[in-house]
This record gives sequence, C-alpha cells and structure tokens, in this order.
Amino acid sequence: MIPAIRGTHDILPAEVERWQRVESVSRRLFERYGYAEVRTPIIEREELFAKGTGETTDIVQKEMYAFTDKGGERITLRPEATPSLVRAFVEHNLEQAMATAKLYLFGPMFRYERPQKGRYRQFHQLDVEVFGVSDPAVDAEVIDLAWALVTELGIPGPELVINSVGCPVCRPAFGEALVASLGSDVSRLCADCQRRAATNPLRIFDCKVPEDQALIDALPHSVDYLCEACRVHFASVERHLDMYGIPYRVSHRLVRGLDYYTRTTFEIMGGNLGAQNAILGGGRYDGLVKRLGGPDRVGIGFAAGIERLVLAMPADQERRDRLPLFVAAMGEAARESALALLRDLRRAGLEAHMEYEGRSIKSQMKRADRLHAAYALILGDEELAVDAVAVKNMATGEQIRAPRAGIIDHCRALAAGWRE
Ligand code: AMP
Repeated sequence: MIPAIRGTHDILPAEVERWQRVESVSRRLFERYGYAEVRTPIIEREELFAKGTGETTDIVQKEMYAFTDKGGERITLRPEATPSLVRAFVEHNLEQAMATAKLYLFGPMFRYERPQKGRYRQFHQLDVEVFGVSDPAVDAEVIDLAWALVTELGIPGPELVINSVGCPVCRPAFGEALVASLGSDVSRLCADCQRRAATNPLRIFDCKVPEDQALIDALPHSVDYLCEACRVHFASVERHLDMYGIPYRVSHRLVRGLDYYTRTTFEIMGGNLGAQNAILGGGRYDGLVKRLGGPDRVGIGFAAGIERLVLAMPADQERRDRLPLFVAAMGEAARESALALLRDLRRAGLEAHMEYEGRSIKSQMKRADRLHAAYALILGDEELAVDAVAVKNMATGEQIRAPRAGIIDHCRALAAGWRE
C-alpha cells in the first residue's frame, strides 16, 4: 500500500455530504450577497506570494510548496487565495467587466505546517473578496456575510473578534511604539520575535511560543495609534456591526499573519474545535492591488477553512433531501421489468438502487437496509401478473401494492412528502 502524503487527507463518502452542505449553503449565501465565482489555477509564480502575502510572513518564509519547474521557473502551490484573486482581477480587468468586483472561490490551499487535528498541509478554503470599495459599510457587509455563513451552518458558540491595524500613514509609529515598549525585553523573546522586531514588529503578534505571550499581551494596542482617517473608519465599522446586532470583541492581538492587511481585521472562532478554533479570518488590504501591479484599488475579504467548518458543524447538518429507493426482483422474468423500472426512476430524477447479483429476496432486502433505502419496490411473478409493484416502507415494514403505470408518480409524491 502506498499511503497518502502526511498532512493530506481523503474526503470519503461518509463525510462528503457535510462538505456538500457547506458548499451549497455558502454558494447560495454568496450569491444572495452579490458575489460571483472565480476559479484560478492551483499553481502560481512564487513571486506572487512573496510580494502579495509578504516576504516576512511565516507562510512565505517557512510554509510554501515552492519548486523550480522543468522550464526553470519558480512555481508554488498556492498557500492562500487572495493574491491569486488580485492577480485575476488585474490580469482580466474585472473592474471593467463587472458592476462591482465581488468574487468568491473554493479550493485547496497548501502550507507546509505541522499537521494536527484541524490543521493540514493540503486544506480547503472558501474565499470572498471585494475590490474598489473603501466605505466601512462594505467591511460590515463582509463581516455580516461571514457571520451569516457560520450561523446558517449552525456552528455553536461563534465568537467574532475585530481590530484595526491602521494604514501606511499610522503603522510606522505603531511599529516604533512596539519596539520602544519592548525595550531591552526584546532579548527575552524567541529568536523569531527578535528577528521580527528588527524587520516587521507587527509580526510579533503572530508568535505562538508560550513563554513570549505575557510580554506580547502587554504591548501597545494598534487602535491607540490610528490616524484620524483610520480611527473614523474603524468607529464606523463598529457602528454598522452594532446596527446589525452582530456581537463582537475588539482584540489588539488580532493583526493576522499576513503583511497586506490595513485597517479592519477580523476572525470568527468557535465550534468547540480546541486549539485550532479559528474558523475564518480576513480583513482589508488597501495597498495590495497596486503592489501587485494593478490600479490603486482597495480590497477586503475573508477565507474560511472548509475542514474546520465541517468539523464544527453539528451532526444533523447532512443533506436531508434524499429518498433512496431500492428495486428488488424475484425471478428471471421480474428482473427485466425491475431493470426497466430502475431506469425509469432514475430518468424521473429519483435516486434508485438495485442489486444486480440479486440472489435471494432476503439478501436484496439486506442490501436495501445497508443503503438506508426509504422504500423497496418489489417485483415478483405475482406483481407481474397484475401489472403492479409492491411498495414496502423500510422503516415501518408496511407494504402496499401500486399499479405499475402510476408508480413513477407515486414515488415522486413520496419524495415530495419526504422533503417537506
Ligand atoms: P488564513 O488564510 O491563515 O487567514 O486562514 C483562514 C482560515 O483557513 C483559518 O481560519 C482556518 O480555518 C483555515 N486554515 C488555515 N490554515 C489551515 C490549515 N493548515 N489546515 C486547515 N485549515 C487551515
């Protein structure tokens, strides 16, 4: 046996209905909010993320699956979606093509992290981005959409955390304040943090080393260093969230691990996920489109981990719209009628199964049970003689006889009743 690569996982039939539910709920929600789907390649140029995600981030420094391809180009498996969507927005001039560029994407992402429950090397995200709108109402809309996603999936105990990390006008002063506040304590932090203090002090907040946390908790808060424009913007985001009745907490620790964020950042935690309890995260990235060679357009978005949504969803959230039917045949003559019935049911849009090796009726019924069939449609010589089908309710054992001519309508009615 050749096993799967460490940190990757198969999504098996027993689990896939939960994935489908996340996908269908989010797809419907995104469309209600006016977002259009985009699918971009999984491989991109390495420099897209070096420039986009940021040279000093953990993702770029430690976690990228980057390689030189046979043509000598530096390629990477995408570690996140935002730079790819920015690239597509610029490359295809989506600003011209769309009334408002509001995009969403589903797909696998790749990061060489230490695998554990809820953390993989190939994982999946759903990602939402809006380009070109700086009004705080759009920050609130994106957060409202994220909140709606988590609540519609029934995820227990969601907690929204927000912050503002300022802009290029106010951020340098905040960075200096961080370094000044640390003073000589910087030598007590881990080697990564000492490097961060010199290159990009904000990244100190990403540190996960337990011994460093007390010092980091005591650091200054970015909201106290915002310029007037950022302060007004953040106050307005809070006002919108209050108006929508979405509960939130402001956390100065929430600077997010990527370099492009400006102003609003947010995360939703919850779902009793233990250590890996961040379900989704995002924020505003006002300089990124320009940095990646596009026009000077602002942007905001978020990414949710689909594995974590699936783990956090309550157990009864599978698809409930299935009515599996099982066709059983007794005897060779009945088998042909049964095959025709099976095909008619499927053509009529119904889910129908049959056991081709159909031995005894008992073994066929066993199979029907394993398939969780709601009804068995049984054909034998007796039914053939009167042009009928026996319809057995698998839950109650109750059995009726229905005319073959009306059986499709009969099953359609059962399915309609089932879905109500
Ligand atoms: P990020 O792109 O780091 O902001 O992550 C956004 C969301 O993606 C997180 O809140 C997680 O739900 C999910 N996520 C990030 N990294 C992983 C991973 N290695 N495995 C599973 N989910 C992840």
